[in-house]
Formats: sequence, structure tokens, C-alpha cells
Amino acid sequence: MNIYRRAVMHGWRMLAALFLAITFVLAVDIFLGHSSLAFGAAIVGLVIANTPMLRFNCPKCGKNLFFRGIFVIPWPNRICGKCGLELDSDGPGTLHQNR
Ligand SMILES: [Zn+2]
Repeated sequence: MNIYRRAVMHGWRMLAALFLAITFVLAVDIFLGHSSLAFGAAIVGLVIANTPMLRFNCPKCGKNLFFRGIFVIPWPNRICGKCGLELDSDGPGTLHQNR
């Protein structure tokens, strides 16, 4: 499996984690009343769940797949934004000249 596919799977995992975190906070809110502690725990949990994101780097230039300039979005680049390497391919990557 190539790095793009693995990064996409991480994106889905994060979506599931986000859903669980929201459900958790809402459940605490309903059954125990409003709790900033539950909210904080959910945020910390999400940050921890998201740390593997930092390992999804372009094999050629090392740019993280989830970074768009200074922004981080929860979906990976298919083509590296820095060096143009095709990340959704197995074997040696093909270079795209249009960037
Ligand atoms: Zn690159």
C-alpha cells in the first residue's frame, strides 16, 4: 500500500475519532451536565489520535501530506505540493510538471 492510501486511511480514522469524541462530549453533557473536563479530554484524545499524521511525509522531499502551505487539512495531498511527486502510485513516483 502506498503512502497516499495509508494517509487516506488515517483521515478516515480521524473522522471516526472525531465522531466518537463528539458523541462522548454530548453523552457526558446529557447524563452528567456540562463538563469542560470532558471537552478537554476529548481534545487531548483527538490530538493523541492524530499524532501518526506527522509520519505521512513525501518520500522524496519530506513534506507532510496533510500540510497545504501553513494550513493543515484532514485530507492528504495526492500529489506532493512541494516537489510534485505522485503519491498515489506504487513503485517509483512519476513527476508532475504542473504545479
Ligand atoms: Zn515532495
